[in-house]
Amino acid sequence: MNYDVAVIGAGVVGGMVARELTKYKLSTVLIDKENDVACGASKANSGIIHGGFDPEPDTLKAKLNAMGVQKLYATAKALHVPHKNNGSFVCAFSEEEDKTVKELYERGLKNGIKGMSVISGDEARKMEPNLSPDITSVLNVPSAGIICPYELTIAAVGNAMKNGAELLTDFTVTSIINTDGMFTVSSADGRAVSAKYIINCAGCYSDKVANMVGDTSFEIIPRAGQYILLDKKEGARVTHTIFQVPSKEGKGILVSPTVDGNLLTGPTAEAVDCPMCVNTTPDGLAAVQKLAAKSVPSVQFREVITSFCGVRSSEKNGDFIIEESKVQKGFVNVAAIDSPGLSSCVAIAEYTVDILRNMGVELIENTDFDGTREDPHFFRHMTDDEKNEYVKAHPDYGKIICRCETVTEGEIRDAIRRDPKPQDIDGVKRRTRSGMGRCQGGFCKPFVMKLIAEENKTAMENVTKNGKESAMVIGKI
Ligand SMILES: Cc1cc2nc3c(=O)[nH]c(=O)nc-3n(C[C@H](O)[C@H](O)[C@H](O)COP(=O)(O)OP(=O)(O)OC[C@H]3O[C@@H](n4cnc5c(N)ncnc54)[C@H](O)[C@@H]3O)c2cc1C
Repeated sequence: MNYDVAVIGAGVVGGMVARELTKYKLSTVLIDKENDVACGASKANSGIIHGGFDPEPDTLKAKLNAMGVQKLYATAKALHVPHKNNGSFVCAFSEEEDKTVKELYERGLKNGIKGMSVISGDEARKMEPNLSPDITSVLNVPSAGIICPYELTIAAVGNAMKNGAELLTDFTVTSIINTDGMFTVSSADGRAVSAKYIINCAGCYSDKVANMVGDTSFEIIPRAGQYILLDKKEGARVTHTIFQVPSKEGKGILVSPTVDGNLLTGPTAEAVDCPMCVNTTPDGLAAVQKLAAKSVPSVQFREVITSFCGVRSSEKNGDFIIEESKVQKGFVNVAAIDSPGLSSCVAIAEYTVDILRNMGVELIENTDFDGTREDPHFFRHMTDDEKNEYVKAHPDYGKIICRCETVTEGEIRDAIRRDPKPQDIDGVKRRTRSGMGRCQGGFCKPFVMKLIAEENKTAMENVTKNGKESAMVIGKI
């Protein structure tokens, strides 16, 4: 197939870039090596919409974070993605750190961030009674928020597909050859697509993908972050996202409510050998627990429901790399998108399309573009009256499949039918939250498997947890 643009990598950045491209009359293909979207950093991160005070002024990170926050809130609303503007606190524990808080405030002003204030520890504790008595001052950032990062990615890709983009999964790009201004992008299994322009959004592998066109100008340094997620019983422990003053290693350990009502603690920041290093370790989780308790000592860690790890795609210069490759015309790197990449993703997408415009790509407006997504009708968000009404018209919404998260059969069937379609149990989990509660799928997994098998007209033996070798059952006895 021939396309105008091939976007490599269906994380939140590639998904938003593809969506932005469908605002114009361009044929677009979005490619990923996994069997679903949001399988890289975009599924395992803190889910924080950062206020924008942290990046060094005059960097791309500072500019796109500051521009991106309100754009992200507006896009999340249009796409029905769970999000909340809960505000963040950055906490100091000493006179030395009080100075850092003031510096962050000044830096935030330089970055154009509005509404921030420096408050005392006592003022902060009036708003958040569970904060440590040792906190001496706080940077209060009301514009910050929380969002579900994989739901955002799924929604962005779904919206891009609704507006004409195509999605190719299980397509591991192994070679890119440019002949007379046209790229041939080939996959490990022998498939190939052609495109006039390539946008490299391959996350931790973006350096490897750039290498395929001879671009060796940057190298990704993978950095892992481990988390502990706690049950909803702990979800109201704090209402703001609680940070500690950042260090050279990053933004430090946070304690935050999630949009789904859990409490998230983490992440660590550890150099790892490769982007596949997503194991949690006893030392990592112990560090998370210790540092989270420093900010909020009353967190009940016996309420842990799971732990996980995500890998950042960092680069030695510390800034995002978003530019046309200096060695290959028509090839744009959108690389080294570590934090605050989620907060900046809509601004990154617009900035990337501006680069194409400056490269001379003809951008004719797609007047049929519809930037909204249908409401996924999450049963748990409905009032009792809404539930009764909805079940009358949609009886399969009256049958609860996941008891912990109150997910209905109707939601699961709709999610399996909606673009981008999930291929396995984890894909359904990311779209509906079935299996994300305190039993972690212990009860609902067989029922979810049955629905996937029915919808895809296949046998239960063919339903996997997360593709490839992850079959759940091997046959009937
Ligand atoms: C621990 C952690 C915490 C973070 N916290 C925050 C936060 O709170 N707020 C915030 O703003 N940002 C945060 N970030 C950063 C944010 O998660 C990232 O900036 C964002 O998810 C990057 O998205 P992406 O699409 O560039 O990368 P990814 O989501 O990694 O997507 C890249 C995609 O490329 C695909 N791919 C790779 N190689 C190939 C190939 N050869 N062929 C085909 N496909 C390929 C991968 O399968 C993957 O799906 C955090 C990141 C981490 C890891």
